[in-house]
Amino acid sequence: MRKTGSSIGSVFIGTQIDEALYEDLEAALLQADTGVQATQFLLDDLRRRVKSSKTTDPAAVKGLLAQALADLLQPLQQALPIGAQADGPTVLMIAGVNGAGKTTTIGKLTWHLSHAGASVLLAAADTFRAAAREQLGVWATRNTVEIISQQGGDPAAVSFDAVTAGRARGRDVVLIDTAGRLPTQLHLMEELKKIKRVIQKADPSAPHQVLLVIDGNTGQNALAQVKAFDAALGLTGLVVTKLDGTAKGGVLAAIAIWGRERGAVVPVYFIGVGEQLEDLQPFDAQEFASALLA
Ligand code: GDP
Repeated sequence: MRKTGSSIGSVFIGTQIDEALYEDLEAALLQADTGVQATQFLLDDLRRRVKSSKTTDPAAVKGLLAQALADLLQPLQQALPIGAQADGPTVLMIAGVNGAGKTTTIGKLTWHLSHAGASVLLAAADTFRAAAREQLGVWATRNTVEIISQQGGDPAAVSFDAVTAGRARGRDVVLIDTAGRLPTQLHLMEELKKIKRVIQKADPSAPHQVLLVIDGNTGQNALAQVKAFDAALGLTGLVVTKLDGTAKGGVLAAIAIWGRERGAVVPVYFIGVGEQLEDLQPFDAQEFASALLA
């Protein structure tokens, strides 16, 4: 390594395009959590781009890498489909391990959807943790939306009630907050699968989205979570939180590679960039790639 800086952007300063530059880039990408496979993919792609551009300027390589990364991430950039079904609300089941930012994301998503003109109903299907219910209740109050909640009840029953209420009351969207960890022997994935099955009983076309919230700072661990939740539930989308501040977020490149192998990428509908209501943004591949390489 010729440089001590950890950011990818610093690799391009004052060097020539040689093997040492690619080695520095490899180390910087790995440090940014892109993972071995995505790093290899990006470097191979970059070598091709450098060759066909015939550039000799290392600063130009940065732009080429940004484009390679943006192209890899582009399929992840999709808009959350709301109101696509013939009748009844769009039902979104939201999963994620505790601390990932699930409840905060639901609060922000409620704000986002309400501002887009949709009527939202919340369901507190994490019935074990009183704090989780209360926290969701705070977001419901902040957004002035209704919440279906029941202390110590069956999470699947609460979800069923919420979908039924959403239909009866003509709501556009039902957001179901699920547990991220259970205090019992019951396996989390089994409970989530049950919730999904019971939602289907209330509306055979639901849930229309199964979203996983992941913390953008947890690196390859986030990829492991995506794989595990997808195997159990069949994910339709992701929200990546905590991409404000010093977040790395390179794991999205690994998630894009995994999506290609899976045969269909799991889109990143939103990124979380703070703790306030308005701190949820649609994912923008180009912007994200430029920020990661800055
Ligand atoms: P949950 O356990 O998955 O429901 O996680 P919470 O929604 O309670 O969030 C855990 C912590 O992360 C809280 O302190 C949140 O304020 C914080 N948080 C969530 N999303 C973001 C984000 O996008 N940016 C920042 N900086 N903090 C976040």
